Amino acid sequence: MCGIVAYLGDKEAYPILINGLRRLEYRGYDSAGVALLQGKDLIIYKCQGKVSDLESHINGRSTTGSVGIGHTRWATHGPPNDVNAHPHQGTSGDLALIHNGIIENYAPIKEELKHRGHTFRSDTDTEVLVHLIDDIQRSEGVDLAEAVRLALASVVGAYAIVVVDRKDPDVMVAARKSSPLVIGIGEGEFFCASDATPIVEHTKNVVYVEDGEIAVIDRRKGLKIRNVKNQEKTPFITELEMHLEALEKGGYDHFMLKEIHEQPRSIRDCLRGRLNPSKGEVMLGGIKDYEQKFVNAKRILIVGCGTSWHAGMVGEYLFEEFARIPVEVEYASEFRYRNPIVNEDDIVIAISQSGETADTLAAIELAKGRGATIIGICNVVGSSIARVTHAGSYTHAGPEIGVASTKAFTAQVTVLTLMALMIGQKKGMLSGSNFYRLLNELDAIPDKVHKVLQKEAQIKYIADIYKDAANALYLGRGYTFPVALEGALKLKEISYIHAEGYPAAEMKHGPIALIDDAMPVFVIATKGASYEKVVSNIQEVKARKGKIIAIVTEGDTVVKGLADHVIEIPETPDALVPLLSVVPMQLISYHIAVMRGCNVDQPRNLAKSVTVE
Ligand code: GLU
Repeated sequence: MCGIVAYLGDKEAYPILINGLRRLEYRGYDSAGVALLQGKDLIIYKCQGKVSDLESHINGRSTTGSVGIGHTRWATHGPPNDVNAHPHQGTSGDLALIHNGIIENYAPIKEELKHRGHTFRSDTDTEVLVHLIDDIQRSEGVDLAEAVRLALASVVGAYAIVVVDRKDPDVMVAARKSSPLVIGIGEGEFFCASDATPIVEHTKNVVYVEDGEIAVIDRRKGLKIRNVKNQEKTPFITELEMHLEALEKGGYDHFMLKEIHEQPRSIRDCLRGRLNPSKGEVMLGGIKDYEQKFVNAKRILIVGCGTSWHAGMVGEYLFEEFARIPVEVEYASEFRYRNPIVNEDDIVIAISQSGETADTLAAIELAKGRGATIIGICNVVGSSIARVTHAGSYTHAGPEIGVASTKAFTAQVTVLTLMALMIGQKKGMLSGSNFYRLLNELDAIPDKVHKVLQKEAQIKYIADIYKDAANALYLGRGYTFPVALEGALKLKEISYIHAEGYPAAEMKHGPIALIDDAMPVFVIATKGASYEKVVSNIQEVKARKGKIIAIVTEGDTVVKGLADHVIEIPETPDALVPLLSVVPMQLISYHIAVMRGCNVDQPRNLAKSVTVE
């Protein structure tokens, strides 16, 4: 799930590994470790905790060596502790291996290896793999690369691995299946990492390792790639477009705050070249060849997890309103195991910030196998989902480091809005004037988000009042119901306050029982189709002494008279309200979490890129 970084070159590996692990911290993890080759010696340091704990643990000890591997672990098999931290070693002590993912059939392999005399130190599935490689190397008399290949042929599961061997310190072997792995190629040096963030400051030339491929990095012979079946592959080198500054905090206290504030720019970047309001045009180059399929689609299925699923729900309302195509939004993890009905004339939209979400990838494979057309909406360029889908649109939000998604959500919703408007227009479902009006309104969204961000001081004041709440309720209707869900998720994720999102009218069917004078209720009550209805729902909360924090349209007086606090946002059509109303939700959660002393960018138990199912 979390982080891999490795180096082979002429420089000292240790600072590169530590710096790389820091860049990967955003992915969420619970332990960290490095292995260094010092000539024919192999040195391993690892411990539970943060990268800074690893540094303190190493402090003063030898860190020389120009070949090394580093890892941040997000425990799946065995608790987070020093022994279970990676790298792991086999019986001979020659190998060190790091792994992201899960070896599903580790138990029978472990049994077999125990019979062959191996003893295990950790509870991890990973340790089984390194013992297996070690065993094969010795019993078959093969080199590291071949031993890795043979071992992987009998492994079921998901992995990105890097292995080094002290008997051959000029070689490093990496492989992947269902977990991301990128190789950076510099001048006489190579990097491996689970994404490009640790690589970008060293080189722009990268190779994305494909599923089932094994990369052999040899100081003398360079990079060679083959697959598990031993067929040689030509490495395809691409140039990274990422910039280092995008990975720094830029003066903000946290990445999350920086990313919230980046939204006027990230939404603008997402619209750039795609929206031309004066000509009345929406152009999504990435799905151009599939426009007709969209137009003829009988149904759209949207799959995603977490925040992406919420964006998908906004997508449902958008496609149904503008393109009049029925939409079903599915949790990818449910969809993949449910034998869903998928037809050849269905369009499946898969949404994932990282483009590596394991459940979403599996849902794509399933739908693809049944003949559907798959459209990806991802943020990370070159990610697995971007590569396995038929077509798609990047969100262009730039790297999102904070674990709680903010700018990726608004960019996903922006792409979905563009798609729905484009298809609606192509289907003749939108009148010319309405289409023009919506395009102009969409074009104005970045500036309006900027205006919402100027309310931060007021939002911080409100956060201070409710920071000690034990529970919170979030209500919305229509387009703002998914925003209520997203608001509740943000609060849960980073402040650990229990929060629920509900359609406002559903409240009286259960959650209203929770309301008392200690319950903050966040309500999106902007002017629009459901305004009067939401006002009634606010009355219901007030009658039970709940505290109302309402997000209202600028100039509203009715809700102002009822609510304990109102946060004004600029007027915009209902369909675009999610893009504005989610911003105060993000800021409230951020400030409450900071006030409660929580680790905002790396909340407990969470990983950024969920590459295990
Ligand atoms: N399954 C392995 C473990 O629990 C690797 C987890 C990870 O991806 O970090 O150690």
